[in-house]
Amino acid sequence: MNSPDSSQKYRDLFFDIDNTIVDFEQGSQQAFRLVFEELGLDFTDAIYEQYKIVNRRYWMAFEDGRIDNATLRSGRFEAFFKEYGYGDYNGQQINDAYLNNLITTTEAIPGIKDLLVSLKVNHRIHAITNGFKEVQRPRLKRMDLIHLFDSITVSDEIGIAKPDSAYFDHAFNLNTPLPIKSKTLVIGDSLTSDIQGGNRYGVDTCWISNSNYNDGGHTPTYTIKSILDLKEIL
Ligand SMILES: [Mg+2]
Repeated sequence: MNSPDSSQKYRDLFFDIDNTIVDFEQGSQQAFRLVFEELGLDFTDAIYEQYKIVNRRYWMAFEDGRIDNATLRSGRFEAFFKEYGYGDYNGQQINDAYLNNLITTTEAIPGIKDLLVSLKVNHRIHAITNGFKEVQRPRLKRMDLIHLFDSITVSDEIGIAKPDSAYFDHAFNLNTPLPIKSKTLVIGDSLTSDIQGGNRYGVDTCWISNSNYNDGGHTPTYTIKSILDLKEIL
């Protein structure tokens, strides 16, 4: 980063990764489809939608601290296969295969690299993700994005997740000098982890709506449809 300009609104930008700078939806569906095919099962888009409901339930439980991350990993798959009548499957093995697929099936949002490179001229940029350690750094490396980040905080590596303020403390403390809250923006697509987390921590937030509606509860400082619109608010 060049010397900070004091008139600049934000100096530190903390980016969520999944569905913020990478197209997790598309990558996840492909990763799940490959698992299904490896098991010799017929895949349809409707089946993936069913899995997403179960997965969301497990993520909510994890974000609320009701289950640990080992249970999140295996439980979501075991519950899905059982609830939808496929029977008993080893959730851990399925999770391992799915995460391994995810490294190669996920693509960056087109244009994201140019955006990050241009933002880096006047900001420090950071990655903050609740994703899994097997996926996050290998995937950023595969996309040739990893070197752009001044710091990377993966919940699974530190045992604390967004929206916990201790997670943001950890992410801030990776940087010298420390980010200043009034000059920091958290950017992400999740109202419960990114926006709630940033709001609680006392920093401005930018919700990437991906054209979804805000169903209330967590109010971001800014809402934009796509990360590519970010420069309009900086
Ligand atoms: Mg996300």
